[in-house]
Amino acid sequence: MSSSFDEIINKIPRYHLAQYPTPLIQAEQLRDQIGGPDIWFKRDDLISFAMGGNKVRGLEVLLQDALNTGKDTLITGAGVQSNHVRATAAVAAYKKLDCVAIYWGEEPGTVDGNYRVTKMLGAEIRFTGAPERSSVDGYINKVADELESRGKRPYPIPRGGACALGALGHVIAVRELQLQCEQFGLEPDAIIFPLGSGGTFAGWLLGLRLLGLDWKIESFTVSREPAEVAEQVAALATEAAGLLDVDMSFTRADAPVHGGFIGEGYGIPSPEGSAAIRTASRSAGLLLDPTYTGKAMAGYLDGLARGKFNHYDTVIFIHTGGEPAFFAGDGAWL
Ligand SMILES: *Cc1c(COP(=O)(O)O)cnc(C)c1O
Repeated sequence: MSSSFDEIINKIPRYHLAQYPTPLIQAEQLRDQIGGPDIWFKRDDLISFAMGGNKVRGLEVLLQDALNTGKDTLITGAGVQSNHVRATAAVAAYKKLDCVAIYWGEEPGTVDGNYRVTKMLGAEIRFTGAPERSSVDGYINKVADELESRGKRPYPIPRGGACALGALGHVIAVRELQLQCEQFGLEPDAIIFPLGSGGTFAGWLLGLRLLGLDWKIESFTVSREPAEVAEQVAALATEAAGLLDVDMSFTRADAPVHGGFIGEGYGIPSPEGSAAIRTASRSAGLLLDPTYTGKAMAGYLDGLARGKFNHYDTVIFIHTGGEPAFFAGDGAWL
């Protein structure tokens, strides 16, 4: 399977922006403190481009596609503290493309965290003026039309980077981790990660199926309700399979999602997330973020306390990045 898998993934367009594989490290002291199975961290937060994070993997595929089709402007959007928008702005700057960053809501009073980085990178910034997150979607299309009518060649990337083509970047990540596990003699029972717009999970779902791996996924949604996002993950994974010409389809039952750890809302730090950040940071020397990885760790710790993960020997937590958001705001939530 793996050699034919490699044939399949070699078809994925990819512009290498960083050095892989990202480190895979064991956190024995954290395990001793929290109990439960051996826990390892896949350090995608250390992806060596533009402060890293999982979004770079998707963008490597999207960038190559944009270059193949002769585009000159990347357009995308999300909230001001978006890791995806920051990484997109960096990709554009690096490849001398233009970038339009579209944020929901109004311009904030402070320029910090990811927003500061995105501004520094020179993206043209626009605000939708509407508080709804979905206001970004129509605005992306509007700006694309506007640019096209001025003779530009825009490349719109959906909010948060969640699209089938971007998901293929995470299919590659599954193979990367499998090879690393082989090298380390590691047989993980489960993979843990935060779930936002679903592109990452979609790639993992497809990658695991293509490789015939029976690693369980323990995903914790930080944004939408579980049923809604599971639907989105299955749809993206099915579409991504189509892009690779493989006949596979997924339903939401294939994409189990844990709920209960969003707290007050997407991007709003939660007390459980803050506690998890303190625990992991102090005993593993790594920093989790308040929007994604902190909440996923909170979910994992809660599951551990309830004995839900006792049947596992080894788990791998995908550190998807997001640290710049730790440095946004006044830190009162800590
Ligand atoms: C976007 C993001 C995620 C979630 O990835 P999706 O593909 O949107 O589900 C997780 N962690 C971090 C740090 C992110 O920026």
